[in-house]
Amino acid sequence: MHEFQSDHQTVRLVTSAALRAAVAWSQRENRTEAWREVSRMTGVVMKVFGPADTSFTPAMLIEKLYQPLSALVGPSSPVSDVVLLDADGSLSDAAVDIACEYAEGLFPNSADPSQDWLPSWTWQQQEQVERAVYSGLIASADQRAYEATRRFLIEHPAGDGRKLIELRNKAGARSVAKYDPIGSERVWPGGGSGYWWPCPVCRWPMRVRPPMVSCDFRHHDARFRLADPTSPEGQPLLSSLTESHRSPDAIATDGSVCLELSVWRHITVPGISELALERDLQKIEDVQVGMWAGLDAIDLLVQVAGRKLEVDVKDQVDPFMIAAKPPTAAHVVVPDYRAAQLPVLRELLAEKKIWTSSQFVKHVRAQGGQQR
Ligand SMILES: [Zn+2]
Repeated sequence: MHEFQSDHQTVRLVTSAALRAAVAWSQRENRTEAWREVSRMTGVVMKVFGPADTSFTPAMLIEKLYQPLSALVGPSSPVSDVVLLDADGSLSDAAVDIACEYAEGLFPNSADPSQDWLPSWTWQQQEQVERAVYSGLIASADQRAYEATRRFLIEHPAGDGRKLIELRNKAGARSVAKYDPIGSERVWPGGGSGYWWPCPVCRWPMRVRPPMVSCDFRHHDARFRLADPTSPEGQPLLSSLTESHRSPDAIATDGSVCLELSVWRHITVPGISELALERDLQKIEDVQVGMWAGLDAIDLLVQVAGRKLEVDVKDQVDPFMIAAKPPTAAHVVVPDYRAAQLPVLRELLAEKKIWTSSQFVKHVRAQGGQQR
């Protein structure tokens, strides 16, 4: 076990360093610091592989960022197939979709020279993002405000700035995370201030890379193509490339804001699976569901036929990372799109009951709940 853990730590360190180098490289034309960051990350990778690898150069690291990460982390990690840079040198979708879960602080003594310009999702872990967002709410021990606030960040990751404040007040949610103007990589630059599209699943602005418009989180399966011509009013139109979703309407960028990427990726995205499970369970008669009981001691408290089931929902790329910080609840649920994790999780968390979301809903129904 010990040997495995150190292996796993190696994957985290190397992926984290590679991700930072890739982000830096993709910004090298605007950021003089980028070059220094790439050599610093070359040093991190070299140190992980041991002093025997002194021949490793920044140029070699950059070359590897255009290839599957297996060249750096070996063949058996969920991150092995990830390529961080696309052929044109821009950051790949997989960088945000997968690699970002491996990010961690490489400089533990807050001596990170790049924190003032590298985006926080390249060096913050999920728990750090959660702590930054929720710690004040948890300290005030107000379960209702906590629940309302958490739900709000999941359901309203973007929108009209003024409307969002109205909605937030109405929901009894607190202002705990910043909303910023929508980044240029998520804007179609035409028709005045430009347009953006919310992902049909998470409602956060999709990435615009003409002619493609897509959500950075692959499991939302939101992929569209810019249609030609535009609408009679001059708004750009999308045509859907998947059967899952109809095309959303374009929204004018003026006045629109969104959560920063790390809050969306670490709070909104996993929250969608939690709320989807809540919704499915509430469709069963005689079932009560409490969300984030005890200020998130557990994700869902499900009451059915006089029994209480404690549930944690885990929507993470790497089952080993879930097992490294075992959930509190007796039942661990993964989204259906992570069904492949079940065998590994059952082995790693032998004392827990592991389910996909639909398996767990079926289980609760069998406990005595009736379909409403
Ligand atoms: Zn999405």
